[in-house]
Amino acid sequence: MIRFDKVSKTYPGGQQALRQVNFHIAPGEMAFLTGHSGAGKSTLLKLISLMERPTVGQVLINGHDLNKINNRQIPYIRRDIGMIFQSHQLLMDRSVFDNVALPLVIEGYSHKEINKKVKTALEMVGLSDKIRSYPVTLSGGEQQRVGIARAVVNKPPLLLADEPTGNLDPKLSMEIIKLFEEFNRAGVAVLIATHDLGLIARMRYRTLTLKQGQMITDGLSEDWQEAP
Ligand code: ADP
Ligand code: ADP
Repeated sequence: MIRFDKVSKTYPGGQQALRQVNFHIAPGEMAFLTGHSGAGKSTLLKLISLMERPTVGQVLINGHDLNKINNRQIPYIRRDIGMIFQSHQLLMDRSVFDNVALPLVIEGYSHKEINKKVKTALEMVGLSDKIRSYPVTLSGGEQQRVGIARAVVNKPPLLLADEPTGNLDPKLSMEIIKLFEEFNRAGVAVLIATHDLGLIARMRYRTLTLKQGQMITDGLSEDWQEAP
């Protein structure tokens, strides 16, 4: 699903954010990506979602070599990726329905299909009763779940989350992770970037650790091993 082959990223200012990063995430796998602030987590996610390009190396997503994707083709690659952010980036003056429907409207789906898919997505995150509500009237955890519904409404095979629990307390954080586990059980590959080590420690998942742009560990959080 995701393959990084000797990927380095140096920003125009000269800041080297990733150095010779190698890893592979299989379809249907769930993993955490961790490391201190500035370690390169966001940069790694931005290379996957084509918001940034590698300086050297190869990124493959769902079999596509991103070096061979031109700017016009970017929307087709992004269609396969559900993105979840810390600040869920909801439109506050639009209803929950409109927020979740947005990616489908952009894709040009019919009203009937949009209705059906939005309802299904809100059911999956347990917010069916909030469909006509506005985000400002929802709690932080509920708002995050609206963001997740929007990310999965198109049923992408890959979910990327950048600090999805950053603003939430431990209990709500765990609920969000449980949601990701449900999507993962349904076959979706999930990569979650977080510096919440407490959250990871309570779980038994593959964890990739970045330090100053290098992948220093890759393994189960219980028995972290040096990456080759
Ligand atoms: P986080 O630690 O939460 O990932 P960052 O501070 O690394 O946050 O990044 C926040 C945003 O600012 C990102 O979009 C990132 O690309 C951008 N950014 C971070 N560092 C720089 C920088 N030195 N110059 C320009 N933009 C930066
Ligand atoms: P993390 O998400 O782990 O906090 P980032 O990927 O945001 O790390 O940042 C890695 C390094 O790259 C940091 O030193 C950051 O300042 C730098 N950086 C991130 N985005 C930019 C950018 N747009 N321009 C210049 N430097 C950046």
